[in-house]
Amino acid sequence: MPNFSIGVDLGGTNLRVAAVSELGQLMEKVTLGNRVALGRDNVLNEMSNAIRRLCEKYRGVGTLLGIGIGVAGIIDMPTGMMRESPNLPGWADYPVRSEIEQRLRTRVILENDASAAAFGETWLGAARGARNMGMITLGTGVGGGIVLDGRIWHGMNGMAGEFGHMTIEPEGHLCKCGNRGCAEEYCSATAVVRMAREAIASGEAPGLAAAAYSDPEFSAKALYNLAIQGDEQARRIFRRVGKALGILLANLVNALNLEMYVVGGGVSSAWEAFSPSIFEELRERSMVYAATAPADPLATGQGASAPVETLTERKTIITRALLGSDAGLYGAARLAMVNGTP
Ligand SMILES: [Zn+2]
Repeated sequence: MPNFSIGVDLGGTNLRVAAVSELGQLMEKVTLGNRVALGRDNVLNEMSNAIRRLCEKYRGVGTLLGIGIGVAGIIDMPTGMMRESPNLPGWADYPVRSEIEQRLRTRVILENDASAAAFGETWLGAARGARNMGMITLGTGVGGGIVLDGRIWHGMNGMAGEFGHMTIEPEGHLCKCGNRGCAEEYCSATAVVRMAREAIASGEAPGLAAAAYSDPEFSAKALYNLAIQGDEQARRIFRRVGKALGILLANLVNALNLEMYVVGGGVSSAWEAFSPSIFEELRERSMVYAATAPADPLATGQGASAPVETLTERKTIITRALLGSDAGLYGAARLAMVNGTP
């Protein structure tokens, strides 16, 4: 009878709650899509109800080890306050952790969603075996997480790893955070759709225009399908995503010299379309990368096997996430196992 914990991933669009065993088995996952639009109190109530339901259902199976919650936004770790939340409107300066704890009448572990995803990938995903790694999540926004010596690096008060808001275009597109040219404005699902709409407005993307006209939910995924089918404008957009990621990664590699960088989140399913541009940029822009690049970087990026051998060779591995959009769920659940009982 395995013990288990509850992991929650609250992103800019979806809310997901899962029971995960200490062996890493997903026992049950509840997906509450699009609840985020219903507002803060609604989301917290639905989240708490789902957590309670799963706790009660599996309490007979094993012991509940804890509840871990990954949330999109900048969290002040000592107080559990959300400070900024560009992708969760109305959540800034809100005591998220104590509000959840009051509803559940128990302690919870609160973590930034991308840091939770980083922790998930080191537990069960592409970064298994890596002690030091960086994670970039490409979703509604772009998140980041850093794991050093097997633990999440929080910085002074929990705000480290905001890779999505690092500047990659000095005079670029205005970001919700107030800065211009953030990585998030070029690599997120939101940015992919915006760039497509810009191409349509320019009149130079008839294929995209036709797709947008016939598909009311014109999404990053739809654009990826067009890119696979060979639409040149769609392919150009993903090359732009790869270039932006390459610039971001070149800065991270130069600053941190970590063993591994994992690219996850929904947009990472378009890895084939954007990854060649990542490696082109990296070689040009990072001497640290050039000095530590594996012979065939794309071969390590297929996510097929944990490249433990390459880790021992001290090469910089850049690869796609193995756990897909569930990385944050697993990571949040693992944090609860590691950080104590409720
Ligand atoms: Zn920003």
